[in-house]
Amino acid sequence: MDEFVQSLRHPFPPSVWKQWIRQLLPSLCWKCGGVLGGKTYHDPASPFLCLSCLKELPWMDSQYHCRQCGNRTAEPDRLRCSECMEEVWDLYESRSGFEYTDLIRDWILRLKFYGQEHLAPLLGRLLALNFQNNNWLEKYDSVVPIPLHSSRLRKRGFNQSLLLTHHFSKNLVEYTHPIFPHWLRRTRATRPQTELPLAERLVNLDNAFAASPEVQNRSILLLDDVMTTGSTLNAAARCLLDAGADKVGALVLCRRMWDASDNLYGEA
Ligand SMILES: [Zn+2]
Ligand SMILES: [Zn+2]
Repeated sequence: MDEFVQSLRHPFPPSVWKQWIRQLLPSLCWKCGGVLGGKTYHDPASPFLCLSCLKELPWMDSQYHCRQCGNRTAEPDRLRCSECMEEVWDLYESRSGFEYTDLIRDWILRLKFYGQEHLAPLLGRLLALNFQNNNWLEKYDSVVPIPLHSSRLRKRGFNQSLLLTHHFSKNLVEYTHPIFPHWLRRTRATRPQTELPLAERLVNLDNAFAASPEVQNRSILLLDDVMTTGSTLNAAARCLLDAGADKVGALVLCRRMWDASDNLYGEA
């Protein structure tokens, strides 16, 4: 019986009859199983995590990160960390909602590789929680999700970045920027940067994107699920700037953090 009740916890109950039965049961915290109250899975205001689980999430501190690469820093308000001091990126800035811990990684893998698209609204909502009553988004006038190449899109059936962007935007109370998925496309399938040796990494993303002329004079926020090296987002920013965009920043759900002594490329 316990297992049956567990199976009704969102985000796992996709079938209609389970959703109907769920109306009769209290909502449980997605992480710890504690009772949340009367909200249901389909209620956009459903909290889905209890307050203590929400507090335990690896929220990114808006001050303690490198403005250029988004990596965690020891001191607040660093324009560039020691790792990226040598190089000026095309991205105006990078920011993430969360650190890439095992918990967030599990959610993202389930969304991307196990077809659990119903996680997208919850993750988009979590990312939006970072920006309520916050004017950081004001400097951008449009949002562009990082596109997938058509071959990968066919295989996966959806672009997780587009889904996240949609639900992120939908959950913002004050700023709703229009989303333009067609402004950027992948011209060829590239291998993940983390799988390649340095020499190949440097050329892997050359001309990997193409931008629409509509980007001219726009301030664009790129949105993606995970940032590891930042090279994909930076290549996308370069392409948009070449096409006439005014400014391009990046926002990701989570970023892999590392210290200078860590092996950054140890894990995808
Ligand atoms: Zn909980
Ligand atoms: Zn940096």
